[in-house]
Amino acid sequence: MKILVTGGAGFIGSHLCDLLISKGEEVVVIDDLSTGSLENIAHLNSHPRFEYHVDTILNTDLMDLLIAKCDCVVHLAAAVGVKYVLENPLSSIETNILGTETALKTANKYGKKIIVASTSEVYGKHMHAPLKEDDNLIYGPPSTMRWSYAASKLVDEFTALAYYRTKKLDTIIIRCFNTIGPRQTGLYGMVVPRFIQQALRDDPITVFGDGTQTRTFTYIDDVTTAIYKLLTCGKGAGEVVNIGGTEEITIADLAKKIKELANSNSEIVFIPYDKAYGKDFEDMMRRVPSVEKLQALTGYAPETSLDEILLKTIEYFRAKAY
Ligand code: UDP
Repeated sequence: MKILVTGGAGFIGSHLCDLLISKGEEVVVIDDLSTGSLENIAHLNSHPRFEYHVDTILNTDLMDLLIAKCDCVVHLAAAVGVKYVLENPLSSIETNILGTETALKTANKYGKKIIVASTSEVYGKHMHAPLKEDDNLIYGPPSTMRWSYAASKLVDEFTALAYYRTKKLDTIIIRCFNTIGPRQTGLYGMVVPRFIQQALRDDPITVFGDGTQTRTFTYIDDVTTAIYKLLTCGKGAGEVVNIGGTEEITIADLAKKIKELANSNSEIVFIPYDKAYGKDFEDMMRRVPSVEKLQALTGYAPETSLDEILLKTIEYFRAKAY
């Protein structure tokens, strides 16, 4: 198969390219390097089954050309990361809504299967667990910019589902929960790379809020495996599917665990949300996925334990000499 990976120079995208190449597939990447980097795909550059284009997914002519020559699309290109979205609210909404509309419209024009990446953010402020794909969604007001990320991704989901219902477009929406591993940068707010780099430098580990908020973390290879299985299983058209680990941990305990696993002397400090993110910020206090649907469709669910995920990621940052 020839597969277009939008956002293929990003953290998840570049690992997906590695997996696809290892499976013998042909890979075409489009990435505007807004949060991705050429370094992530440098090792693939001379591969005969790999090509990349540095451009935006808003370039409709190029998207037309690339989708026409591929068999299917994995659409990962998006504004990602709470910090990034808060700092770039307008361009984030444009990329997420208009870019996805272009990807879906063009995939539909050529009748190509497309996986659309959404996010666990769309669940909003739930306190129950696990979160299932047909749960209600709960957001704060639009003055709290964080929710624009969820709302823009939700528009993507509605658009994809509308293409499925009205045009029978073969599309699957994936809601990725916090994904962790090598090549992820802490620059856009992601907690694990930030904590690990702070721990390895013996800098204070910065827990935002009181640290009682929880997350589950998924190893990058588990996420790319799940995406590949959804791409090839022949099932799931018109479905929304969670991809995530299920080991829940508070952010305060995560800080302690990373400090311990990295043998760090860091102090753990608590920073109020308004100091970390500015005014009008609201956190999601709990986020745990149900992976029943993923399991039912593919016979697979993420399996790497949290300790293993953290140790592998610490190893990566240590090797990078942070
Ligand atoms: N967080 C933190 N310290 C940091 C970065 C993030 O305590 O340096 C917290 C953040 O407030 C949130 C959790 O860690 O409660 C996960 O944040 P992240 O931005 O990684 O992802 P989110 O799940 O919020 O999209």
